[in-house]
Amino acid sequence: MLVMMKANATREEIDAVCRRIESMGYKPHPIPGSTRTAIGITGNREPVEPVALESLPGVGECVPVSKPYKLVGRELKEDTTVIDLGDGVAIGGRQLAVIAGPCAVESREQARLTAARVAAAGARLFRGGAYKPRTSPYSFQGLAREGLEILAEVREEFGLKIVTEAIDAESVEEVERYADVIQIGARNMQNFSLLKRAGRARRPVLLKRGNAATLDELLMAAEYILSEGNYRVILCERGIRTFADHTRNTLDLSVVPAVQQLSHLPIIVDPSHGTGRREKVIAMSRAAVAAGADGLIVEVHHHPEQALSDGNQSLDPAEFEQLLREIGQIAPVLGRSMA
Ligand code: PEP
Ligand code: MN
Repeated sequence: MLVMMKANATREEIDAVCRRIESMGYKPHPIPGSTRTAIGITGNREPVEPVALESLPGVGECVPVSKPYKLVGRELKEDTTVIDLGDGVAIGGRQLAVIAGPCAVESREQARLTAARVAAAGARLFRGGAYKPRTSPYSFQGLAREGLEILAEVREEFGLKIVTEAIDAESVEEVERYADVIQIGARNMQNFSLLKRAGRARRPVLLKRGNAATLDELLMAAEYILSEGNYRVILCERGIRTFADHTRNTLDLSVVPAVQQLSHLPIIVDPSHGTGRREKVIAMSRAAVAAGADGLIVEVHHHPEQALSDGNQSLDPAEFEQLLREIGQIAPVLGRSMA
């Protein structure tokens, strides 16, 4: 059940409703919207009886939730969640968020050379894996803590916000100390203990869709994170597995309006993993922006042919500049702007 507070409800009234929900043995999730605060309730096995709450001061109405997810749905919050990372960088607002950088942090020099170019091109967020979930145990696994330290230096030197992946509970601990956004990769979308840990993290989470996950499964995975109290989740479409063999994955752009219909969470698109081929990345970036995505996460490497992972799908800096120019022209059509 959702408790919709009145538009003029006070902080004290909201707190009192939360306390009443706690006294019933449940967990309250107050989520402010543009017009009013809604309070989601979790932890109940049976439907919650509205009478105990309806009569409290400031309560507008109690509405049953029709979906299996309670906190990620638009029923709870009409307006799209904006995740403010500070310094004028936000995901989910009017501005398109472009996250760019190498698949993996390979060395200080590689990270700095790429960061210098993506920052000069206009990106405000930098990506790069320090913990890499690789298909083969013999492939480069990432620099771990050293990679995080390099990313922290990149943040200082170039003023970029850092997005990097955590692959287990231990790495969440590390990543939340160094990064601005914790990425959870496609392979871990249903790693429920990791999702719960990320739900207790103090950083926003970028949750990538599993490569065979339905939309409901993606939303339920996000629900795990919100249900632990971390309401700052960004969804990401990164391609799903189909019979097609002209791409690494099939980028399912129809999921963008589908998410926007069902959920208040922002959704961005990864055209790099979504295609696996450099020559398709710019076209699919244009398409993602046209479809209404809140942003992109794009792999860029200063020398893609030398990359230790995903070189085939990494843009070089000049191609990334072209990408930004082109989406910069499409953005205004959708009422959006570039940073
Ligand atoms: C990545 O972003 O480098 C990555 C491993 O992506 P995915 O989890 O989508 O495969
Ligand atoms: Mn990659």
